[in-house]
Amino acid sequence: LPPVIAIDGPSGSGKGTIAKLLAERLNFFLLDSGALYRTAALAALDRRVDLTDEVALAQVAKELDVRFAVHDSQLQVYLEGREVTSDIRMERVSMAASRVAAIPAVRAALLQRQRDFRRLPGLVADGRDMGTTVFPDAQVKIYLTAGAEERARRRAAQLRGEGVSVSLRDLLEDIRARDALDMNREASPLAAAEDAVELDSTGVDIEAVLQRVLTLVLD
Ligand code: C5P
Repeated sequence: LPPVIAIDGPSGSGKGTIAKLLAERLNFFLLDSGALYRTAALAALDRRVDLTDEVALAQVAKELDVRFAVHDSQLQVYLEGREVTSDIRMERVSMAASRVAAIPAVRAALLQRQRDFRRLPGLVADGRDMGTTVFPDAQVKIYLTAGAEERARRRAAQLRGEGVSVSLRDLLEDIRARDALDMNREASPLAAAEDAVELDSTGVDIEAVLQRVLTLVLD
């Protein structure tokens, strides 16, 4: 089987950036599993599916017509042929994604799709349960964290870059609410795999984190 590098952690820990840079460096495929849950959530919101209706949500996940493409080294996401790259990053979709992702039947419906990304020469998989559930046999497992305040600041900076202004306090609240949902759910809760290397990126710049990760991978 092709090698897998699993990068898990809470939102804003920098794992998305690290995963992307690592995939580019190694010429590996990239799985942004969060984007998959986000797209399932967007499809459910678009169809006005009740977010407590587990059967209907599992059906949405099963039928999800999603396609990923890379353009200018940016991930582009298509839902039923329509580009939803920025739509899936909206706060209301983030929160819906966390709710949808807590449903075991939804996770089960998306499991094989994620495993299908494992192709030669290898895969960098970014998410919450890459090392614990989706690729338990991953060659390298990283669990990337950062303090909640720092993660909120990073998200604020990112949104400012996109011309969106939001209060830091609202972002911090969102991040804490999402952490609580992701960590306290029954199905594949956010947690480090037993054999994961834990890295705290608080106050560390991305390039330094990438160097640490590359050292682990190339060892
Ligand atoms: O990583 P990202 O913030 O894009 O993920 C959005 C949401 O999808 C997370 O808050 C989490 O609830 C869910 N998710 C998950 N398992 C993954 C990836 C994402 O439950 N492997």
